[in-house]
Amino acid sequence: MTTPRTTRSTTPSTTPTTSYRGALEKALYKESLDCVHCGLCLQSCPTYRVTGRETASPRGRIYLMRGLAEGRLEDPSLLAEEAFACLGCRACETACPSGVQYGEILEQARAIVRDSENGFRIATFLERFALRGIVPDRKRLRLFVSLLSIVQRLGLDRLAALILPKRIGEMTTLLPKIPKATERRRMPSRTPAMGTKRGRVALFEGCVMPEFFGRVNDAARLVLARAGYEVIVPESQGCCGALQAHSGDLEFAHGLARKNARAFSNDLGSVDAIIVTSAGCSAALREAENWIGEEGGPLAIRVRDVLEFLDEVDAELPFTSLPKRVCYDDACHLIHAQGIADAPRRLLSGIPDLKLISHRDPEACCGAAGIYNLTNPEMSKQVLQPKLDALADAAPDIVATANPGCAMQLSSGLSGRGLSMRIVHPIELLEEASRS
Ligand code: SF4
Ligand code: SF4
Repeated sequence: MTTPRTTRSTTPSTTPTTSYRGALEKALYKESLDCVHCGLCLQSCPTYRVTGRETASPRGRIYLMRGLAEGRLEDPSLLAEEAFACLGCRACETACPSGVQYGEILEQARAIVRDSENGFRIATFLERFALRGIVPDRKRLRLFVSLLSIVQRLGLDRLAALILPKRIGEMTTLLPKIPKATERRRMPSRTPAMGTKRGRVALFEGCVMPEFFGRVNDAARLVLARAGYEVIVPESQGCCGALQAHSGDLEFAHGLARKNARAFSNDLGSVDAIIVTSAGCSAALREAENWIGEEGGPLAIRVRDVLEFLDEVDAELPFTSLPKRVCYDDACHLIHAQGIADAPRRLLSGIPDLKLISHRDPEACCGAAGIYNLTNPEMSKQVLQPKLDALADAAPDIVATANPGCAMQLSSGLSGRGLSMRIVHPIELLEEASRS
């Protein structure tokens, strides 16, 4: 079993007040002191590898962020630029021998940068509108995705890609084909265990997952039931807050964590784990205690990525043959944020006739990074290219990755190169191979 990263409680967990920013600056300063400027993280950083610039490296960014906390930064716009040019992939955390908690420092710095912005900024306004007003609101998100679906069916997305400004047009190519409305329904609130019952788990659905990747949640539900677990889906759960936190809207993200802590509170005593299928969501939910203090502790401690859980409980599944060549590509928020690398490979290796093949750089970021591929499309594409080269050389039938953003990014990149590899979540392969 892989050991999930532990995190320290440094972010203020109080209700937002005027001292909130001061507390953020204090926490950021304290965390940044762990960096001894050794530079061992530099080569693991995708933006440093592309640009070669010190300020685009973890060490350079930490230096700028500490300058912000100490009030000695002469040009805050440089930090604003570099903080949001960072992918937040946390590969630097894996590489760092001093245990620097880069992810926390970055979240705090971005929140301070956003708080310091003067005047109206259209980009920030639109981002906040989408991340506060649409993404966490189930009805509005459903309406938005339904409209997108109509646009796709009429072929207007292809037209948009041709006639709209390049940056907006390119966004349309990143979207997956929207599933039919019948496949975007909520999951049943309870699925009984099959065979001998081993336990009971709660499933975290997420906000975007049911709309774009409902099939992944459904595969998780079925595999867990086949492994002997009763699966419940608490009704009032919602968005995990990852995208909002990454965009510098930490206070709003904390509010979402509070909602989820309450949504799962009634079931915490009766479930073995809260199962999550998206690496970005499980990484964020594991921060609940850091974000909101004691109230988030019971939630955070029970969170498990679905692959981590199945491996941990040594799930016995009735596998049949699946003769495919599969590349497992690590999602940054699984490997770097949660330290989970072996469990998915062990599970996939247990499927008869499935050949797990490796490519050159499975741990490197694909450039998706939440909404980074929308906000920084050029850098995102540059970061993606070596990964596409490596996958093209390995030539698998299937690429498996455990995060929806990575799946969309890889799918768009591979189809752009005319490569027709199937992109799936590993749980879909486990489901396929365990169907009776
Ligand atoms: S999070 Fe990723 S992109 Fe950002 S500094 Fe660390 S390694 Fe570089
Ligand atoms: S973040 Fe870690 S690896 Fe990078 S320079 Fe600082 S101490 Fe060294």
